[in-house]
This record gives sequence, structure tokens and C-alpha cells, in this order.
Amino acid sequence: MQNKKIKKLLIGTNNKGKLREIRDLLPKYIKTYSTARFKLKSPKENGKTFQQNSLIKSNYFSSKTNLICLADDSGLEIDLLNKKPGIFSARWGGANSDFNKAIKRVYRELNKKDKKWKNKKIKARFVCALSLSFLKKKIACVLGIVEGKISNTPKGKNGFGYDPIFIPNKSKKTFAEMKPLQKCRLDHRYKAFKKIKKFL
Ligand code: IMP
Repeated sequence: MQNKKIKKLLIGTNNKGKLREIRDLLPKYIKTYSTARFKLKSPKENGKTFQQNSLIKSNYFSSKTNLICLADDSGLEIDLLNKKPGIFSARWGGANSDFNKAIKRVYRELNKKDKKWKNKKIKARFVCALSLSFLKKKIACVLGIVEGKISNTPKGKNGFGYDPIFIPNKSKKTFAEMKPLQKCRLDHRYKAFKKIKKFL
């Protein structure tokens, strides 16, 4: 097993927040490469699930670089919004991935559904599919989920994306109020990573 360990790995994301979090999770003996280094744009994500979109990315980025690729597709599901934004989480931020815009849209849609939503527990979860591919072949694809609720107002400055509005179960703080290390040890990406690390 020892000599089969991966020594070089492309991290298949153009999202700086994810790149940082995935790098922090990986063992230090693995040399990592970013997609920016190869000036690669992301492929069109036309899958119907987090797993399908994650595999589209890992297959694509690996075949463009000849490196084994670890890709992530993730997002926020809100029960009152029929699990939206889900796989469209990045797209709710518009062409410039403006997370303030995405968060405003979440509040707008919640207000449309139920004017009194702030008095209720709005169940939500972050989902992360991580996949590992070499060229166009899947090595592994796993899912990690963290359950929680939506905060009445955005809170905290850390993290990225929807972190200011997500409070994981058993916590009073949003992900954005937590120290990066605290968030990274209980989030959806970490849970998925624990399942995929045996393939690295
Ligand atoms: P995609 O997987 O690149 O399509 O984008 C996923 C989107 O989901 C990100 O752009 C964020 O808006 C959101 N997202 C995924 N993981 C996290 C997280 O850990 N914190 C906050 N937002 C996240």
C-alpha cells in the first residue's frame, strides 16, 4: 500500500475558499496544484446531483493536466425552499460569485415563502461531494453532510459563501463566526474528506 500513495494532486476548484480548506485537510507530503496554475476555467456543471457535478470537474481537470484530481461540488440545501439553492448555490451569486447577493436571495426567497420564518427553525444542511479521478476515470466519489439551521441575520466575517447564515446543530455560532480550524473540523467537506482519504 505504502508505495501506492498519491504524491502529486491537482485540487479541482477555482473557488479560493474551497482551495484553502482542501489544502488544510491534505497530508503535507502531497504536493498540491491549483487549477489557476494551469489557467484552467471550470467545465460546465450540467449534472443533476452534487456527485455528478463533482465527477464532471475531477474528470475534466485531470484529463487537462494528466494529474490525479480531487474535486468538490458543494452547496446549501434549505428545507423550506425545497432544498434550494442546492447544486445552484454558486450560481445564486451571479456571474461574479457575489456571496452577499446569494445571501440576499436566500432571505428574499424565505420571506416569499413565509413572512414569519424568523420565528421558526429553518432547517438546512451543507452537502459536499468529493471525487477523485485520473484522466476520465473515477477513483472514488463520496458525500459529506452537516445539518443545521439558517440564522436570522448574517453573522461573522470568516469563511466564504453562505458561512455567515449557517448555524450547525449543537452550536450557537454561524460558520463565519468560528475560527477557520473550528469550522474545518466539523463541516461537510471534512466529513467527505474522512471518507475519501483512504484513496489518497
Ligand atoms: P460549486 O461547488 O463550485 O458549484 O460551488 C458551491 C457553492 O456552495 C459555493 O460557491 C458556496 O456558495 C457554497 N458553499 C459550498 N461549501 C461552502 C462552505 O463551506 N461554506 C459556505 N458556502 C459554501
